[in-house]
Amino acid sequence: AAAPLGHSVIPLVNKLQDIFAQLGSQSTIELPQVAVVGSQSSGKSSVLEALVGRDFLPRGNDICTRRPLVLQLVQKKSKGDGADEEWGEFLHLPGKKFFDFNDIRKEIQAETEREAGGNKGVSDKQIRLKIFSPNVLDITLVDLPGLTKVPVGDQPSDIEARIRTMIMSYIKRPSCLILAVTPANSDLANSDALQMAGIADPDGYRTIGVITKLDIMDRGTDARNFLLGKVIPLRLGYVGVVNRSQEDILMSRSIKDALVAEEKFFRSRPVYNDLADRCGVAQLAKKLNQILVQHIKTVLPGLKARISATLVSVAKEHASYGEITESKAGQGALLLNILSKYSDAFSSMIEGKNEEMSTS
Ligand code: GDP
Ligand code: MG
Repeated sequence: AAAPLGHSVIPLVNKLQDIFAQLGSQSTIELPQVAVVGSQSSGKSSVLEALVGRDFLPRGNDICTRRPLVLQLVQKKSKGDGADEEWGEFLHLPGKKFFDFNDIRKEIQAETEREAGGNKGVSDKQIRLKIFSPNVLDITLVDLPGLTKVPVGDQPSDIEARIRTMIMSYIKRPSCLILAVTPANSDLANSDALQMAGIADPDGYRTIGVITKLDIMDRGTDARNFLLGKVIPLRLGYVGVVNRSQEDILMSRSIKDALVAEEKFFRSRPVYNDLADRCGVAQLAKKLNQILVQHIKTVLPGLKARISATLVSVAKEHASYGEITESKAGQGALLLNILSKYSDAFSSMIEGKNEEMSTS
């Protein structure tokens, strides 16, 4: 299945990790976490699923996400035989591999109930899930319960404050990218998501606005001004999406079909025609990728410095044995050279000149 998130970045990151591996150090690029924030049923889980490209999260028109789900995507090198396996593993079930993604969803639901009960209760205890796949970037996504105002079921009277505190504990981290999800069929200017993101990230350096449900806006209205940032400006801007409806979920419509339908939706709406770069899940993935590339670019100089230091110490060590270390030194210089080349390539990628950069 296609995994839009990280697709164009994967080869770059792999190459860098290979360079570090050659120098004997482990993975050194820590990518930021991505968390979703928004009111209940705004489409947070739907957006995450579409980004990952697989169906495995509980979604619905009721409170579904009742514990934070920390989803670690782990890249498994492809065996190149076309039969690549993708599977999930939960921290609370060590050693058990889930190859059927429907079973992953069932286990998330069962584990939610074990901790938060069967009657809409919410818990801040995490569920931790790893997805292993050749088609993903090593990145962590966090699905969070939505903001809610009126307690229902087993929820305590202070449910709103509790959920706010829980969400804040994730999105206040400076390394967390925030997807602020607002449904287009609500009063956009009153968005809970944008309000909370604004508190956690007042300068807006790490908040992307996501407008869902563009397909079910009141007839005669559109989200154009919002997507253009004319209502609530946002440094990193907005992307509008159309996810699967409840009916689509009941009919088990696939993500792939949903993406096709989304594209058709935007093509058939003249108001969005000149906003193509702000419409669709693929554009959201692209935006995230650009931010990730930008992030890698900022950490590169530090990584280079570390490689240089390693080389110096290796050279010293060998000198103390009275050996000439042609090969090591040569290899090191070559790697530094490659890294410099990457810095340039990253720059042009960010400027959008060279999206699918070659890594040969
Ligand atoms: P969450 O509570 O924020 O995680 O929201 P979910 O992803 O569980 O979605 C809530 C409900 O809204 C589900 O029934 C989804 O099918 C529906 N939904 C989400 N996004 C869209 C969208 O863009 N269009 C339509 N028509 N329905 C959507
Ligand atoms: Mg959810």
